[in-house]
Amino acid sequence: MTSNEIRKAFLDYFESKDHHVVPSAPMVIKNDPTLMFTNAGMNQFKDIFLGNQQRQWPRVTDSQKCLRVSGKHNDLEEVGHDTYHHTMFEMLGNWSFGDYFKKEAIAYGWEFLTEVMKINKDWLYVTVFGGDDKEGLEMDQEAYNFWKAHIDEDRILKGSKKDNFWEMGDQGPCGPCSEIHVDIRPDEEKAKVPGKELVNKDNPQVIEIWNLVFMQYNRKADGTLEPLKAKHIDTGMGFERLCMVMQGKRSNYDTDVFQPLIQEIATKCGKKYGENEEADIAMRVCADHLRAVSFSIADGQLPSNVKAGYVIRRILRRAVRYGYTFLGFTEPFLNTLVPTLVNQMGHQFPELQKQQNLIQRIILEEEQAFLRTLAGGIRRFEEYAAKCATKVVDGAFAFELFDTYGFPIDLTQLIASEKGLTVDMEGFNRGLAEQKERSRGAAKVENDDWQELMPGVEQEFVGYDTLEADVHITRYRHVKAKDREFYQLVFDHTPFYGESGGQAGDTGKLEMRNEKLEIINTKKENGLIVHIVDTLPNDINATFHAVVDADKRMATACNHSATHLMHFALRQVLGDHVEQKGSSVDAQRLRFDFSHFAKLSQEEIRDVEHRVNKMIRQCLTLEEHRSMPIAEAQKLGAMALFGEKYGDKVRVVKYGPSIEFCGGTHVQNTGMIGSFRIVSEGAVAAGMRRIEAITAQAATDYADQQQDLLAALTDMFKGTKDLAASIAKQQEENATLKASVEQLQKEKAAGVARDIEAKLATSPVLVERMDSDVNALKDAVMVLRNNHPDMAVVLGSITAGKPALLIVLGQNRVDAGLNAGQMVRTLGKEIQGGGGGQPHFATAGGKNPDGLDNALSVAKELLA
Ligand code: ATP
Ligand code: MG
Repeated sequence: MTSNEIRKAFLDYFESKDHHVVPSAPMVIKNDPTLMFTNAGMNQFKDIFLGNQQRQWPRVTDSQKCLRVSGKHNDLEEVGHDTYHHTMFEMLGNWSFGDYFKKEAIAYGWEFLTEVMKINKDWLYVTVFGGDDKEGLEMDQEAYNFWKAHIDEDRILKGSKKDNFWEMGDQGPCGPCSEIHVDIRPDEEKAKVPGKELVNKDNPQVIEIWNLVFMQYNRKADGTLEPLKAKHIDTGMGFERLCMVMQGKRSNYDTDVFQPLIQEIATKCGKKYGENEEADIAMRVCADHLRAVSFSIADGQLPSNVKAGYVIRRILRRAVRYGYTFLGFTEPFLNTLVPTLVNQMGHQFPELQKQQNLIQRIILEEEQAFLRTLAGGIRRFEEYAAKCATKVVDGAFAFELFDTYGFPIDLTQLIASEKGLTVDMEGFNRGLAEQKERSRGAAKVENDDWQELMPGVEQEFVGYDTLEADVHITRYRHVKAKDREFYQLVFDHTPFYGESGGQAGDTGKLEMRNEKLEIINTKKENGLIVHIVDTLPNDINATFHAVVDADKRMATACNHSATHLMHFALRQVLGDHVEQKGSSVDAQRLRFDFSHFAKLSQEEIRDVEHRVNKMIRQCLTLEEHRSMPIAEAQKLGAMALFGEKYGDKVRVVKYGPSIEFCGGTHVQNTGMIGSFRIVSEGAVAAGMRRIEAITAQAATDYADQQQDLLAALTDMFKGTKDLAASIAKQQEENATLKASVEQLQKEKAAGVARDIEAKLATSPVLVERMDSDVNALKDAVMVLRNNHPDMAVVLGSITAGKPALLIVLGQNRVDAGLNAGQMVRTLGKEIQGGGGGQPHFATAGGKNPDGLDNALSVAKELLA
């Protein structure tokens, strides 16, 4: 079976068992402070497990794009070195939300693998949770019993908490799990060592393919477990691993998922895959990382220097570095593999196809930049090695290479060993540990458990229709972040918009009889709108009047609605390739990132502004569909955004021709925006532009400032009617004046030089103070040397309070051993200055004008 057929067989099987097939959620996660990337199929259903959101279907199945490179699940260092861990991979999953539990989950899993996939039963082993004394948990006897119905008991193994108890994070839903392992070793080897001895022992050919998680507990902040009211099934199977088994391969990289990429890399570097272990690892790294980086960019996460962007940058650099070191790619090459990847996966993941151009350009630019850094780091290492007195590379230096040049330690070790050096690993690890400690301290947030006041009450957002409401607190908790403490409150219903989708959260007040609390921010966490306050109200159970800051909300709405209009206008002016890549709106301004390859011309910016302002003047009324099935919304022509997670139903926001999926708050009528102005346009990355713009009062204020500036300038030109002409005229006058001043100076210098020459006729030694800057005389005095080989001229001047000296000696003086450069250093001391020059010519500037006469006396003595 091809990989595409295998994926389809999985989804078809679970569809036949009444599961609803849903698309993969984006791999890049927005709006979740606890997670940067999807690392398991269950992430997109987290809110359902937490009880914050109602399930739409009791049974669901999908293939989810996952990335395991940070946080609790981080496989990065394994990738390439082994044959079955990837950074980005697909996880096939089936879910039951409070519907079926262990019995069916086990039966489905077994049937799919052995009946549908027809995997030999003798190759399979399963594990169940063996209990844990510390947690006070018993062995999962239930799962054991259900397995017994399908598989010999000696193939059911008991596992530890580490392998058989699945947790999403430090807090939240969790439970025992049952893994299915497959032994794909050749028969001779199976005869020697039974497979059950190799399960969970890191053998690359006895590996886990499927994990069935039985969600039945909630882990609280203090570490204790409480039973969940509704029990759920969450399973995850590595798609690439299943393909390996089904295609009779011994490595995921030998399947049709990876071979096209591997073969192309092999051709490009002129090596064969499978001949040399080091080169093979590098090819696997490149193929794997290209997928991770391309999918991230398609989901809207570009490489950068912070947070998720930095994770992506590091993956990309790891690939470039392996290619550079082991495959001889000294020029950018990863980007050239993008078409092959798109060809392979673009059907299943149209976001890749659509953005191929952008992905390729961004990777190219990253590669170029990193190859330059790499070269810089290697130079730095060579300098270091040349001076290194011992045979050991200092750990701190290795860490510096790691930190500033992105050199992984094994690269430093490699280039060190080429020079017969070793690396002080202890020192390096110390640097690394210190850095980790620093960043952990900076990011640490401690959440207490939620205190439930009204369990089971679901929150409702009423802020599209009203800015005030009488509310009750349903739950609250205390939060301690690095530099401050606060409380989070959840209401039964709320008019406050929680920060999400790039729109800032509302602020406002929470009022009751004789108390008023400031709501300093509102965020969206795990699907819940949480209000942030500094202190708790006195009576937590009271009815409160919650009031949103209306001015701020209005200003934000103007900016958000204008963003939609601008998005529409940009596509009209620049073309359909314009796609939203990021958006951020608050009460002050809007910021919009989009794909486009060239700087916008002044005309284009104007054109966009005019179109937006026209739509504002047209007073287009908001047409809003709160809950429209996605397919219907797409039929309306709504701009679907890749990398946004939407349920099956979406909210559609429409102003005339502009139609978007959006959950934000908007103006009722575009006329309310008043006016729109772009204040900046620039590049954020290759193929990506950023516009900042303002609306409403801010746009008026901006126009006022420009007007004021113009008025002030006009004033400076005595109220001219034509400011530009006046400025041009003044510039012209300036240029003429400058030229004539230069001419006069030249003439004056020539006059002074003539005087000097006259004096030289009587005595070759001349020490004098001038009333204009001696530096202007340099050339004129130098010329005198031709006819006065005996001359010794020392001139001093003070201009703008600064003393200066000029010494010019004729050739005979120089030949006699006199040195202008030395002389000027001696004289310079008198004026607290320094200078230098050659034997026949020197100048000095100083700080002490009072010393100038002394300097000239010293000169006279020296020349006497
Ligand atoms: P392993 O012990 O092999 O790292 P895991 O215990 O981390 O696996 P789970 O978190 O249970 O795996 O994920 C469910 C399934 O996803 C696994 O059974 C495996 O088939 C697959 N999987 C997990 N991590 C990766 C990865 N890095 N690359 C490819 N597939 C993976
Ligand atoms: Mg793992």
